[in-house]
Amino acid sequence: MTTNLLDFDLDGLAAFCEQLGEKRFRATQLFRWIHQRGATDFEQMTDLAKSLRTKLAGKAHIQALTVLSRHDSADGTIKWLFDVGAGDVIETVFIPEADRGTLCISSQAGCAVGCRFCSTGHQGFSRNLSTAEITAQLWFAEHFLRQHLGKQERVISNVVMMGMGEPLQNYAQLLPALRVMLDDHAYGLSRRRVTVSTSGVVPMIDRLGQDCPVALAVSLHAPDDTLRDNLVPLNRKYPIAELLQACARYQVFAPRDFITFEYCMLDGVNDQPEHARQLVALMRQQAVDGLSCKFNLIPFNPFPASGLTRSAMPQVLAFAKILLDAGIVTTVRKTRGDDIDAACGQLAGDVQDRTDVQKRMATQRQGMLAGIKVVVTPVNPS
Ligand code: SAH
Ligand code: SF4
Repeated sequence: MTTNLLDFDLDGLAAFCEQLGEKRFRATQLFRWIHQRGATDFEQMTDLAKSLRTKLAGKAHIQALTVLSRHDSADGTIKWLFDVGAGDVIETVFIPEADRGTLCISSQAGCAVGCRFCSTGHQGFSRNLSTAEITAQLWFAEHFLRQHLGKQERVISNVVMMGMGEPLQNYAQLLPALRVMLDDHAYGLSRRRVTVSTSGVVPMIDRLGQDCPVALAVSLHAPDDTLRDNLVPLNRKYPIAELLQACARYQVFAPRDFITFEYCMLDGVNDQPEHARQLVALMRQQAVDGLSCKFNLIPFNPFPASGLTRSAMPQVLAFAKILLDAGIVTTVRKTRGDDIDAACGQLAGDVQDRTDVQKRMATQRQGMLAGIKVVVTPVNPS
């Protein structure tokens, strides 16, 4: 088995090249061929010596993931399902907007956190994705989209780690992938345009702050520990106060940035005015520590096994208004790609095997993944 070069950030690739007796600048050239040009064949890399290309061909390869299916929405949203072996399926979603192109990437097959409102959580944990499997989602989507849309320049301007899995429970594989996203010799994305979303793995929030302080989104979903323990079981290990303290520490490494708190709106569970008022009180406490935040309210994307339902829009807006009136920047996410959700649903009826159950689960989360923000104008933006 040769080495998949998508597994390396630039330092990793330089170390690999060194083993082949090559200098670092050769690794930089190779890195640019792979990520900026989307090359898979070493023979294409004409500015590398023939001897090096032969050496590389014997020891390495550049390999993306196997595409199981692609679904195109009328609004331009594209979803891919990738086969990562042994019946595991992951999803990646591209969401075009007027001023940006966002790619939503998975970090694990399944997830061990087990949030009540999340179909990946219900599916359970299968395995961590490798750095190559995380990076391959961006590599493939960027180069596919350039061809598909007939563009020479960059198509993906933002990455969100909001697909399947808890990225901070796969930190060792995640970090090099983040470095590839940010590297000027690869995708050159700005630190603020790469978002790691976490259910709150406190020690790893600290590590990320030190290693690679990209934008942070924290899935809060409840204003108190009793409710959050129930919705996000990881809260029993890292309760809200500890989580918010970690957020405040993170901001030392990411000054002038907001932390986004995601809040999935569940009918009658966490969407009452009282919950919003409790959140305001919680955030006022934290403001003392200098935490600057915004809220993103996500209408729940229902699936039968959850036994939960989506809050009605007036309820969501009333909730948003309480936060806004308190001066908290708040957005409500609008789902996109509903038509491919429906098309995808047709896959679900066919077969009973595990792959299809996973496809169906992926489908159910689609609306959530393909979300965009609808900005609600702050009433009292102090
Ligand atoms: N594990 C990470 C990132 C992946 S989930 C995390 O939990 O943050 C990305 C976001 O989707 C999270 O905010 C999560 O709470 C939310 N989410 C999961 N299932 C959902 C559903 N059925 N409807 C709406 N949002 C959901
Ligand atoms: Fe895992 Fe995030 Fe789903 Fe919770 S919401 S189960 S942490 S993927």
